[in-house]
Amino acid sequence: MSRDQITVTFECLDCGGTVLELPDNPTDDSVAVCKTCGRSHGRYGDIKAKGREMALNEARRITDEHFARITKAFSRLGNR
Ligand SMILES: [Zn+2]
Repeated sequence: MSRDQITVTFECLDCGGTVLELPDNPTDDSVAVCKTCGRSHGRYGDIKAKGREMALNEARRITDEHFARITKAFSRLGNR
């Protein structure tokens, strides 16, 4: 089942860094900065919301893909 695992990746627009740095025990108002170049990437709460949205879109894409495959399989059965 791990094939359908959803990962949301972050990439800094300035330096391409992929690690966000947050203070210990961050709250939604904590500001996340790029660990490589220090660029601010906004509030942790906003980033979490964006991540959820990306994960949701990805889940939707996977579901559509599976659904298309199932529909195809069923139409093959029906045409026999
Ligand atoms: Zn950066």
